[in-house]
Amino acid sequence: MDLRLSALNYVTSIKNGDFTVEEFIEKTLERIKDVDEKVHAFLQVSDTALENANKIDRRIKSNDKIGKFYGMPISVKDNMCVEGTITTCASKVLENFIAPYTGTAVSRLEFDDAIIIGKTNLDEFAMGLSTEFSAYGPSRNPWNTDFVPGGSSGGSAVSVSANECIASLGSDTGGSIRNPASFCSVVGLKPTYGLVSRYGLISYANSIEQIGPMTRTVEDSAFLLNSISGVDSNDNTTVEKSHHDYLQNIDAGISGKTIGIVSEMTNSDGVSTEVMNATNNSIKTFEKLGANCEEMSLGSVPYAVAAYYTITSTEAGSNLARYDNIRYGYDFDSEGFEFNSYISKARKKLGPEVTRRMILGGFVPSAGYAGKYFLKALKVKSKLTAEINNAFKKFDFLISPTVPIQPFKFGEKIEDPVSFMLIDFNTVTANLTGKPAISVPYENSNGLPIGIQIMANSFEENKLFQAAYALEKTVDLPEVPL
Ligand code: GLN
Repeated sequence: MDLRLSALNYVTSIKNGDFTVEEFIEKTLERIKDVDEKVHAFLQVSDTALENANKIDRRIKSNDKIGKFYGMPISVKDNMCVEGTITTCASKVLENFIAPYTGTAVSRLEFDDAIIIGKTNLDEFAMGLSTEFSAYGPSRNPWNTDFVPGGSSGGSAVSVSANECIASLGSDTGGSIRNPASFCSVVGLKPTYGLVSRYGLISYANSIEQIGPMTRTVEDSAFLLNSISGVDSNDNTTVEKSHHDYLQNIDAGISGKTIGIVSEMTNSDGVSTEVMNATNNSIKTFEKLGANCEEMSLGSVPYAVAAYYTITSTEAGSNLARYDNIRYGYDFDSEGFEFNSYISKARKKLGPEVTRRMILGGFVPSAGYAGKYFLKALKVKSKLTAEINNAFKKFDFLISPTVPIQPFKFGEKIEDPVSFMLIDFNTVTANLTGKPAISVPYENSNGLPIGIQIMANSFEENKLFQAAYALEKTVDLPEVPL
């Protein structure tokens, strides 16, 4: 039995009776035991997975109708609520928080008979890009454990890459699915804003974030999106999906399609030589596949990171105000009760990065400063959206490296917060404009992965998958060494 199976191959094997769900889950749990001390992908591992597997096996035996995932183990980033389980957001403030309900994306996976195998590590409240800001210690890159796995959905990417599960759900506010997907050599999709319900996702910057799949293959990404997407009465920003089967015609190819190479994201000083080379190779590949590639410009991209951090900190400032030791982070001590010190008791449980964002988030939209910072950031967002909408009149896809650099060593980048934030240079545009974007594993240089980002127009995930699938089929990447 091979734990490296894709989701689609897993389903075929179960249907063929090659092994039972219970056998697969048992082996998965053993694998987690073996490798997770090295990579720390999980904050908690399910203690009901085997029991659930057994139930599905019995249903298979009695020819009941089984959901499309057939008991496959899927992990979930620990900022999504799963009823009855501790949901920490990798923060001490939610150390004891037991989710009272299950969020929509997760419950849709469960409805389709996935087994939620555990909750994965992240940067505290999804703020970061390396998992170094997790209050429970970082995750490690399975390609080389001296290096970060990316983030904030680092644990999710690691769990898939280190063969501790078949797929995972991450969340992406400014790159948190695509960045770790690129760093760990998995496929990561940030869907169009509104395609996947955020109900049960603990908010960081709710106006731009989305839940999305992290998988071994592009087909698996489409397979999971089929399950989790679509309108949800619990999230008013969701819309009815236009495609009911993203796997359909995934192999249509990209012959005759037009691809814009975003020059600001591809030819800037911040892009490393290895990443630049990989990107140039991918352009040649796209051309060989029959697409027409052309360099183009999105003029507001250089302002996107500043606008992104201004907007997201503002939203974080209000979203995280609820961690006040009354509603969450409860730690009641009535003796000598004094309101401010009582609230600050909860705030002191927040890590330095989250604290920095909250301070910034109180300042940038405040009276007297909003015009200079917050409103200006909103203008950048509108301008960038107009530019990208215009670009999609001409181009089917826009491409760039997912991240300008390869994985780096622990501690190597966090000392300088501004250059650290600039690592998000290529990913934040899709969030600010609501567009779908996917990272496809493309090369491996010096033993570390490089991903290519493809963006498409809103709700064109079906087209996006066709391009990603065509690219994926041209690569032959090594197996993870762990
Ligand atoms: N690095 C970005 C941030 O810290 C993106 C995080 C995310 O997408 N959740 O905000």
